[in-house]
Amino acid sequence: MALEGGNLSAVLRRKGELVLEDTPIPKPGKNEVQIRMQRVGICGSDVHYLQHGRIGHFIVEAPMILGHESSGIVSEVGEGVEHLRVGDRVAIEPGVPCRMCSFCKDGRYHLCPDVIFCATPPYHGSLRRYYTHAADFCFKLPDHVSLEEAALLEPLSVGVHACKRAGITLGQTVLICGAGPIGLVSMLSAKAMGAAEVVMTDLDEKRLAKAREMGATYTVKVDSKDPKIVAKNVEGALGGMPDVTIECSGAEPSVQMAFYGTKSGGVVVLVGLGPNEMATLPIVNAALREVDIRGVFRYCNE
Ligand code: NAD
Ligand code: ZN
Repeated sequence: MALEGGNLSAVLRRKGELVLEDTPIPKPGKNEVQIRMQRVGICGSDVHYLQHGRIGHFIVEAPMILGHESSGIVSEVGEGVEHLRVGDRVAIEPGVPCRMCSFCKDGRYHLCPDVIFCATPPYHGSLRRYYTHAADFCFKLPDHVSLEEAALLEPLSVGVHACKRAGITLGQTVLICGAGPIGLVSMLSAKAMGAAEVVMTDLDEKRLAKAREMGATYTVKVDSKDPKIVAKNVEGALGGMPDVTIECSGAEPSVQMAFYGTKSGGVVVLVGLGPNEMATLPIVNAALREVDIRGVFRYCNE
């Protein structure tokens, strides 16, 4: 194994077996760049593939390099690339769509059925020394943005997209369910888009303390199994029901709470991915109060 100067890569061979091994250094094709990787975040999905070997219908059937939250320095430029040079520091948007289908042409390219997304089987990710990527999905960093921050633009984009889907605007009140990384970036995005007050829920007091430290106006610890009681506690903290709820836990009781707990005429955005089918959701309660329920899949144009 030629590790010095080689392409040390984090390869998930199969469920439960993650190894570091040398892989070929890829050459950039037309409209691609080769990147000397600098920072790669570990996403919940990377851990999930390691522990379970699958997420929904994405199954690890062949060895796969992990990683998709990443930044690096351009080390080689392929034919046709005009906007990047060797030495440029870039953030990488990991999903490259076909650019040809109706979704791509409408600008909702994240819904493209042929998107190639890093570290989603069967495609390799970026947790390695050298990686090639479509140049137009690499974004040159301003000097004041660090490579760590650049890698975290990927999860931040999920929060930005969730808030855009919710249509968050000045002065609104927002409930965010679940104070994990995705809940936190959704909170930061909601505030940046003008939300006046953001309340966050979680089961875990340590996560709520982090949420307050990062700017959540209020937090509510979930200590009842009854979603209506949790919704009342949220309403009490906020002094009214939230205009928008962004569900970032994927837990069924939390989705139930989101439906009950959002103001009539408001919006519930579902970011958290729980079981494919949930047993009971108060659909009629939400429908009769004209609560809009919207899905979120990653991000686009963020
Ligand atoms: P995470 O597991 O770190 O955070 C989830 C949080 O929810 C935890 O802190 C947990 O304690 C909390 N929680 C569990 N049950 C709860 C309940 N009943 N009420 C309130 N909080 C509860 O996960 P993460 O990395 O922050 O991601 C959050 C979710 O978003 C995951 O389901 C992930 O799969 C999903 N996700 C979706 C997209 C998308 O495109 N839709 C993108 C990224 C992540
Ligand atoms: Zn497409």
